[in-house]
Amino acid sequence: MATWLGTRSHSSEARSGSGAPEPTHSGGGSTSPRRRTISSPGKGVTARLARLGVPLYCGGHRGHVVALTFDDGPGPYTHLVLRLLRRDHARATFFLVGRLLRDWPVLPLRERALGSLGDHTWSHINLAALPAAAVTSQLEDARRAISADAHVRVQLFRPPYGSRNATVDRVARRLGMLDVLWNVDSFDWAGANWTQIARNVLHHLSPGAIVLMHENRGQTIRALKFILLPALRRLRYRLVTVPQLLALDPPSTAQLDRGLEGCARNSPSPGSAKTRSAALGIEKRDYSRLSFRTAL
Ligand SMILES: [Zn+2]
Repeated sequence: MATWLGTRSHSSEARSGSGAPEPTHSGGGSTSPRRRTISSPGKGVTARLARLGVPLYCGGHRGHVVALTFDDGPGPYTHLVLRLLRRDHARATFFLVGRLLRDWPVLPLRERALGSLGDHTWSHINLAALPAAAVTSQLEDARRAISADAHVRVQLFRPPYGSRNATVDRVARRLGMLDVLWNVDSFDWAGANWTQIARNVLHHLSPGAIVLMHENRGQTIRALKFILLPALRRLRYRLVTVPQLLALDPPSTAQLDRGLEGCARNSPSPGSAKTRSAALGIEKRDYSRLSFRTAL
């Protein structure tokens, strides 16, 4: 599949209260429009997007692929996530906190076997509050630790709390790392229970979605096991890594230019609301009454 990617500076991508990352970009200097032809899968596309220096919120809308992402690992529940994913032949992307690798040195390699690894900074710090040199250290130290344990070159990066600005964008671009945000938030970090987590994801899901989850929360594991993975299977979504998503269903130039709002689409998922209700195991009349936040 060939498409092209262009960019201009992103200054406003999200609406307040969307549940997706707030834009913290403060300008950063616009880049001239450019066109890119995507011909190589996965890492090639990732590298191209990283050079553009703009964050990724989602893939395209053309395939039935979704990228689950798990932040803040590795940790005591990592093996449970991996077991569930393996059972479903699912892939995912793990954004790791560098300093945690000292306690869990074997897990990154196991995660790599089932997906892609990303840099979630060394100490899970708010990068937007740091000078450029400290941002660089946070990214480089974590990347080095992940590479040492998993023997992989790390190209993906996610700022803790989705907090970024022009300095963060510039450093990531200089390091050749793609800033991967999300367009669907499970709200597991906010204390949602397992049924709420599943509802938050399923009610906002659409092809090309990048889903924010955390691997060290028991409620997240329970949501995956009992609702999410079975429902996604019934909806016939293919669960892929972020590089796979970019290879199979890359965002269009228009999507990238619109940031988070570029992830909106008219029909929210493959299948009607009725189909999704069936996947959720609830009646249609109940489905319409369920409260959920509007992601976009
Ligand atoms: Zn985090």
